[in-house]
Amino acid sequence: MPLTLRGSCRCGAVGFSLESHTPVPYQLCYCSICRKTAGGGGYAINIMGDAGTLKVEGETSIGVFRAELCDDDGACETSSGQRRFCTGCGTALWMYDPSWPELVHPFASAIDTDLPVPEEKTHLMLRFKASWVEPDIGPNDQRFDEYPVESIEAWHRKRGLWID
Ligand SMILES: [Zn+2]
Ligand SMILES: [Zn+2]
Repeated sequence: MPLTLRGSCRCGAVGFSLESHTPVPYQLCYCSICRKTAGGGGYAINIMGDAGTLKVEGETSIGVFRAELCDDDGACETSSGQRRFCTGCGTALWMYDPSWPELVHPFASAIDTDLPVPEEKTHLMLRFKASWVEPDIGPNDQRFDEYPVESIEAWHRKRGLWID
């Protein structure tokens, strides 16, 4: 049975739940979007669940942010990723991208259910981290300048942490 994750915003206007086979909060993203919208420590932690199981209360209080992404040559486009947040209190809730309609990526910071403690972490998008942030790299942690090669699903399966 997948784990049921329950989440909420700080003011209580939004509540949500979803099923997750991959609930380990091991993936720390230092990109400028994550750290500015959801990452006071310099990163946000993204987990993954099944979009088809997402149930939402307080839909009218949810805003959508689609970030502008610019490459190193200065060419910009609007991200297809939809970052949902509470318009009342600003809590970052989850990321949904229609390019992968079966997946939803809640921010671990919005989840109230106890999550498994990661024994090793993946630090990603390190080339975009703020200069003052000193990542806390554990002995088994992996580091990536941009995206890791291993998907969230593959990471869980390889370590026997995938929940059927
Ligand atoms: Zn709120
Ligand atoms: Zn990010």
